[in-house]
Amino acid sequence: MNHTQSLQFDELKINTDLVNKGLGYAEGAIPEPFAGYLENVWNDCRQLADIRGGFHIQEEVEFSENKRSFFTGGVEFKAGKQICKELLNAEKLAFFICTAGKTISEKSSLLLKGEDPVLGFVYDVMGSAIAEAVGDKIQETIEQQMTLSGDKITNRYSPGYCHWNVADQHKLFSFFEEKPCGVSLTESALMSPIKSISGVIGIGKKVFYREYQCNLCNLKTCVYKSVSSSKR
Ligand code: SF4
Repeated sequence: MNHTQSLQFDELKINTDLVNKGLGYAEGAIPEPFAGYLENVWNDCRQLADIRGGFHIQEEVEFSENKRSFFTGGVEFKAGKQICKELLNAEKLAFFICTAGKTISEKSSLLLKGEDPVLGFVYDVMGSAIAEAVGDKIQETIEQQMTLSGDKITNRYSPGYCHWNVADQHKLFSFFEEKPCGVSLTESALMSPIKSISGVIGIGKKVFYREYQCNLCNLKTCVYKSVSSSKR
């Protein structure tokens, strides 16, 4: 099963905590020129027409004996102990791909390299927040659909995070048509547009949603660490 949807900026719940932290300030303490830039960028984002998200359901999943890999569709994902522990009771999986789109990704990198790096940085932070907000929306859609059959879902997990090798992104993309939601992969498994996220969600009667278990992880750049959200 494949599901994709286009989304408008105004229907997304942007995590302002994520935006503030990305900019390096506490809520309500954003100084100029960032505050003014943020307002302009926020308004500009209302014009974005390429925000998209989608998911694919795999109806079966198995785990390796050492509980460090999961298998589905004949493909092994070396997601590691931490993620496999969360997925362990899953009967199905949802692979997802979400993007803030090419427009904001290109705008931020152009500005960062050229005429206004500060404005480029604000677009960059907002692009990340949009991609996560699309992730929240897709997660919500999956949850609503699965509730109909009495299933629950886990939190979402992405290659490159929680000790899951980013190279597995190629395997994840193999479950979608070419360029799902307009997103492609480089050889080194980076997504283009850059403001995109992908990952997996466990589904089943015995799984449950848990906060990320970050106490033993030192990935300082992780957007999920210590960030509150509507869902988390
Ligand atoms: S900080 Fe937490 S969510 Fe981020 S990679 Fe580490 S364990 Fe995963």
